[in-house]
Amino acid sequence: MPTNLISPLVRDLQRAVGERNVLFAPEDLLVYEYDATIERALPDVVVFPDTAEEVAAVVRVAREYDQPVVPRGSGTGLAGGTVPVRGGIVVALTRMNRIVEIDAANRIAIVEPGVINLDLQTAVAKHGLLYAPDPSSQRICTLGGNVANNSGGPHTLAHGSTVSHVYGLEVALPDGRLTWLGGRLPDMPGPDLRGLFVGSEGTLGIVTKICVRLMPLPAAVRTMLGIFDSVDAASEAVSAIIRRGVIPVALEMLDQEIIRIVEPRVHAGYPLDAGAVLLIEVEGLAEGVAYEAAAVIDACREQGAREVRVAEEAVERERLWEGRKAGIGAIGAVSPAFYLLDGVVPRTRLPQVMRKVMELSARYGFRCANIFHAGDGNLHPNIMFDPDEPGATDRVLELGGEIMRVCVDAGGSITGEHGIGSEKRSYMEWIFSPADLDAMSRVRAAFGGADQFNPCKVLPSGHGCGAGHAADFQRALAVPGVYV
Ligand SMILES: Cc1cc2nc3c(=O)[nH]c(=O)nc-3n(C[C@H](O)[C@H](O)[C@H](O)COP(=O)(O)OP(=O)(O)OC[C@H]3O[C@@H](n4cnc5c(N)ncnc54)[C@H](O)[C@@H]3O)c2cc1C
Repeated sequence: MPTNLISPLVRDLQRAVGERNVLFAPEDLLVYEYDATIERALPDVVVFPDTAEEVAAVVRVAREYDQPVVPRGSGTGLAGGTVPVRGGIVVALTRMNRIVEIDAANRIAIVEPGVINLDLQTAVAKHGLLYAPDPSSQRICTLGGNVANNSGGPHTLAHGSTVSHVYGLEVALPDGRLTWLGGRLPDMPGPDLRGLFVGSEGTLGIVTKICVRLMPLPAAVRTMLGIFDSVDAASEAVSAIIRRGVIPVALEMLDQEIIRIVEPRVHAGYPLDAGAVLLIEVEGLAEGVAYEAAAVIDACREQGAREVRVAEEAVERERLWEGRKAGIGAIGAVSPAFYLLDGVVPRTRLPQVMRKVMELSARYGFRCANIFHAGDGNLHPNIMFDPDEPGATDRVLELGGEIMRVCVDAGGSITGEHGIGSEKRSYMEWIFSPADLDAMSRVRAAFGGADQFNPCKVLPSGHGCGAGHAADFQRALAVPGVYV
């Protein structure tokens, strides 16, 4: 484009990151209007910095032009977190994908935010080490996105979510300065600003480097498949296992609907006539693993498991896991769209809550497939629908709201791991008091971003932005939604 037609904002961003690393043509921007959920909105410009200094320079330009800043990793978020609902500058961190250092002796690694989760796991495994957080999207999601959403995964049950595996963060603050929160050690003096930043969903600044904690790879692992006639029996088995004093590293459930979708495509070995299966993994020293596996098998049988299969070889384990990891994607093969929900309940309430989820889905007339982190009580109902059917999107969103309400009423919460984004901010008032929300709003202001950094996210309307439910954005933009 002739330089005289380029806006001053774009020209200054090109100076900050290089001409080739700024997109502003409408057809290029389309790719950056969505994440993996239901919302979409176009940015005005997308930039691809290569270094922390370039990120800081972009932030300073944004400030000068008073433009919203929206950080972006791979766009796999499930809450509309990286959707630029007020336009502005999307800062895509995908070029910053270097593993800067692996310090095996001190069991840490320093990475840039665009490193893909699985790439780090693969790199540290060569040193006999493990980076534990493993979202099911780990083949594509970035560590910056994981930090921003405090992501979990199948192995969160024993190892904890991302916040438990981050020692320090280098961040570009909203005033364009770079600073470290935390460092290379497990504990640093002063207030834990690192902990505050993890899970802040891009509202406090942009992560430019991460110091992660590594653990030794386990000496022994055993993966089991508990096969049940019903979701009810499998849900009861979840509590029965933990009552026996065993905390598996992973305890995942797939119901019949998802088994029948995933098995013909992935051939993981899940029986098509099962009401539900539990994928259970224990790890540690060989003797401990044998003891825990026996306790798991007993607990499953006690709750009526038809069979418990044990995979000891890596190849068998991988096959069982493939069904879990490919499960959500497989739904795309049988339904034009689906809405993936994320709620959490005390695990002892799983049987009642799962019954209610199925009852509500049937009442609304939608198929619902469940594949989730049962050990954490972290539900993921996937509601299948056709967005071209008049009214279907509104009904799905209404059903999603009802399911979230069931979770809250059961003593749970509106997200287990996917974050609030713009999708769930109207539900924040269900679980937080006005004083709680005011405190969060003031933290945001203290970091200096106020409503410039990822506006209209996390905090409900009245705390910086107008109403922000998915359907409102959808209608306002009058375009068909992008659904997972
Ligand atoms: C099939 C599938 C399975 C999934 N399974 C899981 C799962 O098991 N567990 C789980 O927790 N999640 C899961 N997710 C959700 C998603 O993958 C995670 O939230 C992931 O952390 C998002 O990473 P991303 O790189 O795609 O981030 P994006 O979607 O690009 O961004 C997510 C949020 O992070 C912010 N952000 C991104 N990078 C930065 C940065 N450098 N600095 C500051 N803010 C930043 C964005 O502004 C946005 O608010 C799944 C998603 C899909 C599609």
